[in-house]
Amino acid sequence: VSGSGRLPRWLKREVPKGNANNFTAGLLDELRLETVCDNAKCPNRSECYSQKTATFMILGAICTRPCGFCAVNRGRPPEKPEQDEPERLAEAAARLGLKHVVITSVTRDDLPDGGADHYYQCITAVRERTGATVEVLTPDFVQCKEALDRVVEARPEVFNHNMETVPRMYRRVRGPKSDYNWTLQLLRRVKELDPTIKTKSGLMLGLGETRDELLDALADMRTYDIDFLTLGQYLQPGEKYLPVQRYITPEEFDELGEIAKKLGFKQVASGPFVRSSYHARDMAEA
Ligand code: SF4
Ligand code: SF4
Repeated sequence: VSGSGRLPRWLKREVPKGNANNFTAGLLDELRLETVCDNAKCPNRSECYSQKTATFMILGAICTRPCGFCAVNRGRPPEKPEQDEPERLAEAAARLGLKHVVITSVTRDDLPDGGADHYYQCITAVRERTGATVEVLTPDFVQCKEALDRVVEARPEVFNHNMETVPRMYRRVRGPKSDYNWTLQLLRRVKELDPTIKTKSGLMLGLGETRDELLDALADMRTYDIDFLTLGQYLQPGEKYLPVQRYITPEEFDELGEIAKKLGFKQVASGPFVRSSYHARDMAEA
């Protein structure tokens, strides 16, 4: 199915009703926390908030990268990470009763360590306060190799860094600083530093990649020993973003998921609404 202004029937969903949705949004507001759910206009917000789950976005709401698919605001970020953010995050996780906390961030090319120490503080605060397992979805830390080491030192249970797309389309989709091989190597280095951490990555489909390019990328990911995989439909968050080239049918997502399992990924989520943090706890605990 090719991309057009109208969504195919399988991308139309009913909005779940209930108060938990408002509760989550109110709590995030009260504690001045950002989520990628809101900032990236994720289509799963109602479902996730109603299940009292969210993906926290630390290090501010302004990103230093120009990815063509992402609705997060760009520009000059605040100077320093907010010192009390780790505590506010831990408070939200505790009050939501989260058992698995997903933490992501904007990319902070302006900070010498890319915000790695702030990740460390956030992971540690959440764990100490709640005992929850922690999953991080980090930037690529291109400016500083040691930055990655600092995040790994906090021992998140799952370390996610998204491939996003196939190598031919990297710069167009992820911007000029991105590098396909760096992304793969970053995930391998996590395992070298701490083999107990599960690595995870994901791709958005429908941006113009061919099937062969996609299968090659999946094979590369297995070569680099990535444990968990997410495959989801790219949806254009607004007019100025990259257009959708193709809507992949649910059947094709199922088929790709089966192929990925045969390639050896330990956990695979493949479907139109799958995002890196969608049902993250199920994947981490399976
Ligand atoms: Fe937030 Fe992830 Fe759920 Fe989207 S899938 S609403 S980003 S937790
Ligand atoms: Fe969005 Fe991340 Fe790209 Fe920033 S680096 S624009 S937050 S996808």
